[in-house]
Amino acid sequence: NSDELYCIGCGAKIQTVDPQEPGFMPQSALEKRTDDEDLYCKRCFRLRHYNETADVSLTDDDFLALLNQIGESDALIVNVVDIFDFSGSIIPGLHRFVGNNPILMVGNKEDLLPRSLKRSKIRDWLRQSANAQGLRPVEVCLTSASKGHEIDRLMELIDKYREGRDVYVVGVTNVGKSTLINQIIKHQTGISDLITTSRFPGTTLDRIEIPFGDGRFLIDTPGIIHKDQMAHYLSPKELRLASPQKEIKPKVYQLNEGQTLFLGALARFDYVSGEKQGVVVYLDNNLMIHRTKTENASAFYEKHAGKLLNPPSEEEMKTFPKLVRFEFKVTEKSDLVFAGLGWISVKAGSIVAGWAPEGVSVVLRKAMI
Ligand code: GDP
Repeated sequence: NSDELYCIGCGAKIQTVDPQEPGFMPQSALEKRTDDEDLYCKRCFRLRHYNETADVSLTDDDFLALLNQIGESDALIVNVVDIFDFSGSIIPGLHRFVGNNPILMVGNKEDLLPRSLKRSKIRDWLRQSANAQGLRPVEVCLTSASKGHEIDRLMELIDKYREGRDVYVVGVTNVGKSTLINQIIKHQTGISDLITTSRFPGTTLDRIEIPFGDGRFLIDTPGIIHKDQMAHYLSPKELRLASPQKEIKPKVYQLNEGQTLFLGALARFDYVSGEKQGVVVYLDNNLMIHRTKTENASAFYEKHAGKLLNPPSEEEMKTFPKLVRFEFKVTEKSDLVFAGLGWISVKAGSIVAGWAPEGVSVVLRKAMI
């Protein structure tokens, strides 16, 4: 009998008749349930366990409606970015939509950075990168959603800057937003079970609302798909091989001009000119780095990509975009950043080139160390 049962997530009365209506739960699930178990309707159950808010593509009307709605509300905006892929984390036009709302920027995946890197420096860099995008965050915070680092700090900052308002958490897919939301829910013990769900008005998009207890909510928005991410060209398995999984241990390679490093078959670094130097590589510890002469490098890639040089696998090479070259003159100690993968630190007075799959960015920034 489901007469007096309510979903602990959204508060809807449980029913077993219409899957499209609120509070639906299959009869079989209802029967299997024990008395002391919290009851979730199917929709809340899925949102809780699989974080199934629909991701949206950048051009969707829904996406624009979502940003407009955020712009029109009086709220704190928490923008989650991946420290390893800042350019792939950018929500185009976000600065035009936020209006007067404050932005708190969260640089996630902090656990991957070498401990030797000063956190204050990374925050400075993140702030500068945000400024360059027209965003002026009130504060920058570094977290590891997967390790649960600095979640307390984040919650403190959220409380400080929301000033009694709602909070919107925005981010593109793969930055770790779902993982972070789960940490926030865990952190808010006592009300951790009270995920409520609703729709963004005028859209088909779901949102998750986590109550603060003062009538205000932390609202998780759908992940926004940014196609210029390495993640979109690799299978989950290959992605794990390509993107750093553990604290990066920097490695030094002594290079002469005219030498090239292949990063698997994912990217390539050419030391075009300059004195012999030790470049420092900040990439996944297991990613295979192969050194070769630049003059033979393209032919080498042609022959070995997907085989000796991997990831990607031979299968994935068939659809993997071709590598595009970006050349830089290095006038101060700098990091050549391969979006999503990591970076290579080079000294002043050299010319270098970075190659990445078409669409994925390569940028030069002032060295972090
Ligand atoms: P979302 O698409 O933004 O919701 O991202 P997910 O939460 O699904 O995470 C994307 C990927 O990044 C997953 O493989 C996570 O395991 C990984 N990830 C998320 N947070 C962290 C973190 O703090 N550190 C590390 N190393 N990986 C993370």
